[in-house]
Amino acid sequence: MAKSGTVFLVGAGPGDPDLLTLRAARLIGGARLIVHDGLVTRGILALAPAGAELVSVAKARARHTMPQHRINALLVREALAGRDVLRLKGGDPFVFGRGGEEAEACRAAGVPVEVVPGISAAMGAAAAAQIPLTHRDHASIVSFVAGQCKGLTEQDWTGLAGAGRTLVIFMGVRTAPQIAEKLIDDGLAPDVPVAVIERACQPQMRVLRGPLAGLAALVEAEQVVSPALIVIGAVAAEGDLALTRIVEGMRA
Ligand code: SAH
Repeated sequence: MAKSGTVFLVGAGPGDPDLLTLRAARLIGGARLIVHDGLVTRGILALAPAGAELVSVAKARARHTMPQHRINALLVREALAGRDVLRLKGGDPFVFGRGGEEAEACRAAGVPVEVVPGISAAMGAAAAAQIPLTHRDHASIVSFVAGQCKGLTEQDWTGLAGAGRTLVIFMGVRTAPQIAEKLIDDGLAPDVPVAVIERACQPQMRVLRGPLAGLAALVEAEQVVSPALIVIGAVAAEGDLALTRIVEGMRA
């Protein structure tokens, strides 16, 4: 039997090739087989050698090009056939990236795995919008939550947002109205600052700000598209406002 290849679970960061780690850039530059998500930008895939095989397993919310168990099976199959597989994911593989499931599948099959961290969209978006996630005057607790998950409305988010806290919501564009409602029902002030960072670290980036009570209207009026992050808390009013469009009528 051929010696197993290794599966490299690699974070590609938020989109700008300059934000790859050196390790990721080196692995991409030497890859023969890359299995990537829809979040991995063209500029990053362009760093792959001409002969590399690129397989997209793009996941859109309602359009699963390839279900997770088939992605796991693909990684394992190729590695067991002796190929190194570069599994390239947006942001960091272990932040809402299902990297845990893929690593588990590889370990179960006896396939060696290496995980290479990436700059999560939370870090990328914060830097690009100059919104500090922590700040001695505003927040000493940061939470990352998925806005699109099983049983969103039943989840207990109390304590995640509010004074001294920053809440960063991934995959929350579609559920923004329910998120705002849920947080306000939980007692969060309707005028808590919110920032929406769309396509962070990419040329088309937009930073939109307003109060929590206006979040649904903001997302709707501005036709915010995925990928976008929602930051809720006092820090969302910080940073370089020149980068921001504060939408008329959305002020607290
Ligand atoms: N592993 C990724 C997250 C994958 S979940 C990471 O660490 O960043 C997908 C969600 O990430 C998107 O719905 C969006 O909320 C966020 N996201 C990913 N890339 C983004 C980007 N460039 N700008 C804004 N949000 C982004």
